[in-house]
Amino acid sequence: MGVKVLKFGGSSVADGIQLAKTRKIIEADPERRYVIVSAPGKRFDADNKVTDLLYLCKTHMEQNLPYEQVFQVVADRFNAIMMNLSVHVGLQSRFEEIRAEMEKGCTADYIASRGEYLTAILVAAYMGYDFVDTAGLILFDKKGRLLAEETNEALAEELAKHEHAVIPGFYGTDKETGAIRTFSRGGSDITGALVARAVQADIYENWTDVSGFLMADPRIVKNPKPIDRISYKELRELSYMGASVLHEDAIYPCRQANIPINIRNTNIPEDPGTVITAQEETSDKVVTGIAGSKDFTVIAMYKNRLGGERGFLRKILNILEEDFDLGVEHIPTGIDTVSVVLSNKAMDGRLDEIVEEFNARLKPDHIETFENIALIATVGYGMSRSVGVSAKLFTALADAEVNIRMIDQGSSEMNIIVGVENKDFDVAIRAIYDAFE
Ligand code: ADP
Ligand code: ASP
Ligand code: MG
Repeated sequence: MGVKVLKFGGSSVADGIQLAKTRKIIEADPERRYVIVSAPGKRFDADNKVTDLLYLCKTHMEQNLPYEQVFQVVADRFNAIMMNLSVHVGLQSRFEEIRAEMEKGCTADYIASRGEYLTAILVAAYMGYDFVDTAGLILFDKKGRLLAEETNEALAEELAKHEHAVIPGFYGTDKETGAIRTFSRGGSDITGALVARAVQADIYENWTDVSGFLMADPRIVKNPKPIDRISYKELRELSYMGASVLHEDAIYPCRQANIPINIRNTNIPEDPGTVITAQEETSDKVVTGIAGSKDFTVIAMYKNRLGGERGFLRKILNILEEDFDLGVEHIPTGIDTVSVVLSNKAMDGRLDEIVEEFNARLKPDHIETFENIALIATVGYGMSRSVGVSAKLFTALADAEVNIRMIDQGSSEMNIIVGVENKDFDVAIRAIYDAFE
């Protein structure tokens, strides 16, 4: 018998109704043996995600404000779900345990992880499956980097002991100290991928609230076309660039173990969703998908005869890495110009310092900065074999009166990235979508 690993996102475990759908899906196929759960997400637009509430508890703790009321909202959500599903699993003692840790001044990672922890205990009881905690199995080093191979071994060894299990997403522990560490937001997708690799699953099913990966963000483009099949590489580009359906780091473990990922809709389980595999040419479409995100800064440097100057790029990267501990998103270059694209979040208000350092050490003739830039990637294998793709894309943006601040085309020719102003982000995505669809 094969093995399927399933991950259910926040909306799929948001309340009793959603959890009943989740159980039906799991029980519909005996190969569905390992289930990863997120913390309850929003039930309606104005609702709160449990993870956001837990982070809010930590903020209150830091500001010396009472946090008990906020935590009570979390506890009430779990109590309501238990009552709804007639599951009696004694979460009260776990709530007390968490309160006691908060009293002692716990870390943000600890408190944020408790949403997944409580959900997994509840869902395990509801399903009659074992609860397998990821503390001590998913391991991080001192800097919070995943120890992939050790994690794989630990998960494989433990899960071999369980025929069926419910596993909390989003967190693991520091290998040395045993303290809880989380992935970045949306990280339950990574837990699912790690489990899939560890049990050598035949497929990793990622259940969410959309019927698969769509050609563009449905919050920006109305009814975007679904993508039936897509390669790991294309998906990685789209996820990295901001398509939030699947966490960008969830792709690597599956790609390594050659496990297909299937994005499915908990609310419409009969939809086949999107299948992601290593196969590169999955359709005859020119563009597979469009994704992007806001809030980048472009620093453009001009210097006469820059093309002939040795080590200019190396110096730029050195300054950014050594003085500012910053990575670069893109480096578009011209003959006498080099630009670096940095994320505002990572830069954290240090733009003036960076420009000052560049001026002092690189002595460019001129530096220009463009703040509030959004990056948009148009991705697809079809682009490398079609003529006139860039022309079509730029014409579409010009017609929509979008000013292009930067262009970067990967040498693989499977993506074109443009930088536009934040305010033009939605218009630009719609214009590109309409041009290619
Ligand atoms: P989950 O809580 O199940 O992990 P997420 O909210 O992380 O779900 O991801 C699903 C959401 O991603 C969708 O509801 C949709 O709004 C958003 N999204 C952004 N880009 C895309 C895209 N290209 N295709 C589908 N959904 C997208
Ligand atoms: N609950 C966490 C978050 O909201 C992790 C996840 O849902 O994947 O980011
Ligand atoms: Mg998600």
